[in-house]
Amino acid sequence: MMQAMKVLALDFDGVICQSRAEVLRVAVDAWNGLGLDPGISEAMVMEETTAETLDRLVPLGNRAEDFGVALHILGAGLPVEDQDQYDEVREGLGQAWLHDFHNAFYETRRCRREEGLPGWLALHQPYDGFVDILRRRAGETTFAITTAKDGESVRLLLGFFGISDLFADRLILDKETGISKKIHLRVLSEKLKAPLSEITFVDDKLNHVESVAELGVRAVVAGWGYNTDRELEKAKSAGFVVASLEDVEDLLFS
Ligand SMILES: [Mg+2]
Repeated sequence: MMQAMKVLALDFDGVICQSRAEVLRVAVDAWNGLGLDPGISEAMVMEETTAETLDRLVPLGNRAEDFGVALHILGAGLPVEDQDQYDEVREGLGQAWLHDFHNAFYETRRCRREEGLPGWLALHQPYDGFVDILRRRAGETTFAITTAKDGESVRLLLGFFGISDLFADRLILDKETGISKKIHLRVLSEKLKAPLSEITFVDDKLNHVESVAELGVRAVVAGWGYNTDRELEKAKSAGFVVASLEDVEDLLFS
């Protein structure tokens, strides 16, 4: 049904790693550290409605600064339901604001890591079902990571999850590789001398999967990641394959 998969390129957050708690913690600390308005209290962080609102907004963004956009929408109580409304708010904040939040986010994360690595690592969980599949299928194909996260965090977390050995270090493409998954996949194709058509790409974000479709890679949406039904329905109606933890092994390897 498909040609041989030479390379399996995996997004990190939302595919391998569940980092909801860490992202909320770091984003709020970055926000408060920048003195942005309104300040976000601990009580607000703990409220379930806060987490739910972010779950709804996070799929509309791509990068660290998008967590700031989400907090801005939350704090100002803006009515954002879809991508267009989200993009409008994001644009309104301006490049300088986004840039500052981006830097503050990574600086905050670095501080958290350095202050207490075990505590920081414990804010993350692997998607066990998927990690088991990778372990079982190691050697059948080349695994790579294409992520907007910083490489140092990714490497620490792969170690924490006990799967560092599954990924060659040079095939961990991080936020420094480029701003889009398209760039990541082109770089990966060049590094491995593998045509894009022999790469399968798994990402939980529909907008990432959409953006690489024209490259000719086989793209699969990870339905277990940071999606709401809104994204999954949209992905299906656009004709993309949406995998679950139950059927992803068959979809990728059979
Ligand atoms: Mg993701």
